[in-house]
Amino acid sequence: MSERPPDCQVLIAGGGPAGAALALRLARLGCDVCVAEGQAFPRRHIGVSLAPAAMPVLDQIGVRDRLEATRCCGSESTIVHWAGRTDILPHPPGQAGAQVDRGRFDQILLDEARRAGARLLQPARVVAARRGRSHPWEVEIESGGRSRTVTAGFLAIAAGRRSALGGRRKRLSAPMLARARKRTARIRLKHRPRLVRGDIRALPFPDARFGLVAAPYGILQSLLNERDLTATLKSVARVLAPGGRVATELVADLPSWREYRGQTRLRGWRQGRKAHVTLVESVEQQPARGLTLFHQDFIEKRARAVTRRRFALAFRTISLPQMARRFEKAGLRVTARLGSYDGDPWTRESETWLLVAEKPGR
Ligand SMILES: Cc1cc2nc3c(=O)[nH]c(=O)nc-3n(C[C@H](O)[C@H](O)[C@H](O)COP(=O)(O)OP(=O)(O)OC[C@H]3O[C@@H](n4cnc5c(N)ncnc54)[C@H](O)[C@@H]3O)c2cc1C
Repeated sequence: MSERPPDCQVLIAGGGPAGAALALRLARLGCDVCVAEGQAFPRRHIGVSLAPAAMPVLDQIGVRDRLEATRCCGSESTIVHWAGRTDILPHPPGQAGAQVDRGRFDQILLDEARRAGARLLQPARVVAARRGRSHPWEVEIESGGRSRTVTAGFLAIAAGRRSALGGRRKRLSAPMLARARKRTARIRLKHRPRLVRGDIRALPFPDARFGLVAAPYGILQSLLNERDLTATLKSVARVLAPGGRVATELVADLPSWREYRGQTRLRGWRQGRKAHVTLVESVEQQPARGLTLFHQDFIEKRARAVTRRRFALAFRTISLPQMARRFEKAGLRVTARLGSYDGDPWTRESETWLLVAEKPGR
């Protein structure tokens, strides 16, 4: 890495509410922040409603007073049309929401970030970003028909629904299910599994439908916030029949665990030896955030062309006893803590962490 400092400590791609709020907070904490916003402000935007829950956030970042100017009227309730039902949900007393002029709202937020010390590049589009040799990030920015490279210690993508770095976001559930359907059709089974697309926080099945729910491969730890995990366990308890079981496997948090880089996990041919693929994995632990990240690098070689696809799988560090307490809280009685698939008892040193629980009531 270079001795010269990067152009900014943090570069934020996108100056909408998320990018502006992040810039404001970081600038007030004394960080050297740059925001690259692709569009000129104020821009035309449909009005939006802010839920009451947004108000404390505006207070926390200290912009509520200025934003009052963008408010055209308050709202006392939320009307929800969902699955053929309409519910009117009154906001708690004294907690009104608001309708705001979103064009002005965005501009005021970004102005506040600038007043706090954030540097603003606008209109300026982030078109590419790469890991640099001299600095952690080298980010290519286009503005007024010219291109420049800005170096940064951190890059935050706050570009909204569109990906800041080109390409469309891939939604994988539908193609993966289609592939799985093809494969299951080949298996000779008396009862072929039915594959259903759904949200595990609200399983799309009736109450007491199953005798067993399996949650393998650290899936419960892939829910990165507590609210999602609580909702999922509640949903699991709901679809289990009394006496039914849930079995889960956790990503172990071993004392002997070490971060590693560049381990080849898989290597082989696809499409009749037309393409050679390698999967290289690196593991990074972030104790301060309570996360373990598995960075995956798929390298495909076809004739002389090489394509790389990178993504990361993030898991929360939750010990087996902590997960057991969450199960109990969801009304599930823990019946086994296992340290192997052969049924050995669990210890902190076990490399396999399995938890089995039962829905009481039979
Ligand atoms: C039709 C619709 C109605 C909605 N109504 C409501 C509502 O009533 N209430 C509510 O709370 N929410 C509403 N939302 C959701 C709300 O708009 C989003 O949650 C919110 O805008 C997200 O803020 P953001 O900063 O993450 O992204 P955005 O607001 O999308 O901001 C992203 C910013 O990044 C910039 N950008 C994009 N790519 C680049 C790039 N490559 N380089 C530089 N800059 C870039 C964009 O110009 C933009 O300014 C609505 C959404 C839609 C689509």
